[in-house]
Amino acid sequence: MDQVLKGQIAVITGASSGIGAGVAKSLAAAGATVVVNYPTPSSLPAAESVLKEITNAGGAGMTAQCDVSKEEEVVNLFAEVVANYGTVDILINNAGLQRDAKFDEMTLEQWNTVISVNLTGQFLCAREAIREFLRRGPRPDVSVATGKIICMSSVHELIPWGGHANYATSKGGIKMLMQSLAQEYGDRKIRVNSICPGAIQTPINRAAWETPQALNSLMTLIPYNRIGQPSDIGNLAVFLCSDQSDYITGASIFIDGGMTVFEGFATNG
Ligand code: NAD
Repeated sequence: MDQVLKGQIAVITGASSGIGAGVAKSLAAAGATVVVNYPTPSSLPAAESVLKEITNAGGAGMTAQCDVSKEEEVVNLFAEVVANYGTVDILINNAGLQRDAKFDEMTLEQWNTVISVNLTGQFLCAREAIREFLRRGPRPDVSVATGKIICMSSVHELIPWGGHANYATSKGGIKMLMQSLAQEYGDRKIRVNSICPGAIQTPINRAAWETPQALNSLMTLIPYNRIGQPSDIGNLAVFLCSDQSDYITGASIFIDGGMTVFEGFATNG
């Protein structure tokens, strides 16, 4: 891969598994120094193995523990990265989880857990990243933009999702957070965009792909007839962080094998 992100520092939240791990590997292969964030000590071995794969391939980075829903931990994470590497150029706001329930059975704890991690976590990390971009100012030697943020949203910022109202609400909120930041900080050359994945094969949606029956049923939603891989998202993230996409900001990019063209309508609905 071309070293289009050479010399840039990228923080990837929730990078010890799934899409975050895939994005960390792709950004590192494109020359970025990556911060592989994980939430609790129990995820440290997984984070270390992601980092090892990156360094074995010639990349560079560090692991860093932080629960993105905790303000103090997020502030400390960015302070640690700036102390180690001097600044941050890229934030991949990826950490997320699901706590599914029928709406009439959903507990306040299930609601609050999802909103705290998926939405408030993105607020806290984006705020620290933007503070650092503004403090540091332009770095024209590495990028035209002063800073780049990618919010990991979902097709569910568009497609309502019964049984997952907390999750869909968090992703709908991310859309407005992302667009408001793009609007507010565009003149400071900060680009903010969302990636909206469809079905990507990761631990979060294991039930949707781990049996042949489940996978067949999933394929009825995907015109392109394959499940996505974390590397699909990694390739898009590299493009969105690079100067090749310098005129893209405030955009939700859907990457879903066609899920949002609603295959059920292919034969007249
Ligand atoms: P995953 O479960 O493998 O990854 C989620 C990551 O977030 C994990 O590494 C987990 O440790 C981390 N995390 C959870 N709570 C955290 C916290 N408080 N602080 C820091 N990290 C925390 O699942 P994934 O599919 O890789 O999900 C990554 C993102 O992609 C999520 O935001 C998810 O909503 C989104 N997404 C996934 C799909 C899909 O099909 N897999 C589709 C659309 C959107």
